[in-house]
Order: sequence, then C-alpha cells, then structure tokens
Amino acid sequence: MSNGKIIDGKAFAEDLRGRVAVLAAQFEAHAGRKAGLAVVLVGEDPASQVYVRSKGKQTVACGMASFEHKLPEDTGEGALLDLVEKLNADPAVDGILVQLPLPPHIDEQKVIAAINPDKDVDGFHVISAGRLAVGQPGFVPCTPLGCLMLLKDRLGSLSGLDAVVIGRSNIVGKPMAQLLLAESCTVTVAHSRTRDLPAVVRRADIVVAAVGRAEMVKADWLKPGATVIDVGINRVPDTRPGAEPGKTRLVGDVDYAGAIQVAGAITPVPGGVGPMTIAVLLRNTLVAAHRNAGIALADDAI
Ligand code: NAD
Repeated sequence: MSNGKIIDGKAFAEDLRGRVAVLAAQFEAHAGRKAGLAVVLVGEDPASQVYVRSKGKQTVACGMASFEHKLPEDTGEGALLDLVEKLNADPAVDGILVQLPLPPHIDEQKVIAAINPDKDVDGFHVISAGRLAVGQPGFVPCTPLGCLMLLKDRLGSLSGLDAVVIGRSNIVGKPMAQLLLAESCTVTVAHSRTRDLPAVVRRADIVVAAVGRAEMVKADWLKPGATVIDVGINRVPDTRPGAEPGKTRLVGDVDYAGAIQVAGAITPVPGGVGPMTIAVLLRNTLVAAHRNAGIALADDAI
C-alpha cells in the first residue's frame, strides 16, 4: 500500500477486510456456520457507541455474524460477568470484545480476565499478553498488530532494525515492543520518564509513536529515511488559515508536515493506523473461528 512516502492505512485496511471476507466465506462453507463476533457495550458513551456500531457493520460486511449486547449504564459487575460466561460457552461466538472503558463501578481487569483466552480477539487478557511474550499462538491487540502489518508491508524484513516505541501502555506500547522484538528488531521502549527523548528517537529506523500528545515528535528528532508509525489520535483546534473559528481537527503524535520531509515513510492521521484497528479485529475473529472449529489456517494466510 505505497503512495510515495505516505503509508495508506485506509487502503491496506480495505484490502485486509477483502481478504477476511474471502476466507470467511470459505470458513462458512467448511464449518457450516459463520464466524461470529460478540461485542458488549455497557452504557451510553457516544464514542464507544460509534465504535461498536462500526465494528458490527464491518463484521457483517465481511460475511461474519455480529452479536451486539447493549447493556444499561447501571448494569452490575455480576450481570456482566454472567453474560461473558454465556458468550464463552456459546459455540456461535468465536470472538468476544467488551468495549472499554467500562463504567467506574465495574472492575475492567476482572471482566477481561473472565473472557476465554481462545475468544480474546482484543488480546487484552493476561494469558494473551503472556502468549505474545513467550511466542505462543494467541491474540495480539489489534492496533499494534495493525502497525506491524503496515511496517512489514512497507519494509519487508524488519530484522536487525533499530525500533523505538514511544509509550508503554498495555494496549499499544508494550505489545508493539513485543511484536517488533519477535521480528528481530533492536527495541527501545521510551515513555514519560525517558531522558533526552529526541536523542533516543534519532537512533531509530522505525519509530512508533503511541503517546496521546499532539504533534510531539518533531522532524529534527528523526533519522533521515526512518519509517514513522503514528498511533496518536488527538483533537486540536483547527488554526489553519481559512479554517472556521471553533472548528477542530485530528492530529497524531507526530508533526506530520515536518516529519514527512525527513522520514522515509509515514502514516497520516487520519487514514493511517486508525482504520487498521477494526480490520485486524475482524482478522483476529476469523483466526479464532478457525482455531475454535479445528480448521487449519496457514500462518501466512492473513
Ligand atoms: P496511554 O495514555 O495509555 O499511554 C501513553 C503512553 O505515553 C504512556 O506509556 C506514557 O508513559 C507515554 N508518555 C506520556 N507522555 C509522554 C512524553 N511526554 N514523552 C514520552 N512518552 C510519554 O495511551 P494509549 O492507550 O497507549 O494511546 C496512545 C495514543 O494512541 C492516544 O492518542 C490514543 O488515542 C491512540 N490510540 C489510537 C488507536 C488507533 O486505533 N489508532 C488505538 C489505541 C490508541
């Protein structure tokens, strides 16, 4: 998915969804049922509602079954755990995703821990994190796996490259670092306490920025030719000439306009990493379906 220096995540994600759809149809023919994804939403958070709707629509568009469970804000932890148990036992459900954040009266870790790791298509379960760390088959969180796919598509082998991941969250930074290590990169994980971050980033052939600080990574932090993956999604006032007063726009963690002059390749925001997340979720669900049904799927099939 190359367009000069710009890594087109939107086009890659569309292609990935197309490949998922082909394999989902083959799975259905073989297994006599569709691969199924259950998405659980508790409460009315508007952003979560948009994500859940989008996940459901894209699941169906790929020829898989979508089971949406929308529960009221005041749902108790016990009731949510009961639902997770039901979904764990349901043979029509291959993947279970509990949309985060959950309301404050529910312990998120407890709910994630209740999901059967073989249906943990979000890859947030500690068993999934452990499997990734020791190199066993499991599920990897969707956003970092999407970043890895974009990197391999652009660079081919990553072996021996210096990679700097900025951010150490459980859902992006840490699994990203594990994935890059598994590809034989020399990995540095930088974070809020890192000293002289620009100097650390300047060593990198690959930079993955997952911080949540608008345009923090500057062009002069980059080694010329570096490949830059910008995970950040930050809403900022639109101060560009001609913009309507009060309007906002999305920017990443990297100063894109400056960085594209120096980088060898870079993901834009929007249209880079963002569209990959749901496409990888569908991919993980399809993989789960094959494993759960005992149907072989080649490692490089998708
Ligand atoms: P988080 O807040 O959990 O973690 C941020 C990390 O950045 C922390 O580990 C922290 O140590 C580090 N950090 C904070 N300030 C720093 C600084 N000044 N210098 C260096 N490191 C610093 O965030 P997250 O959930 O990992 O998400 C990161 C960003 O990625 C956010 O903008 C989020 O919206 C975005 N995101 C995008 C997608 C997607 O689908 N594209 C998915 C998940 C997250």
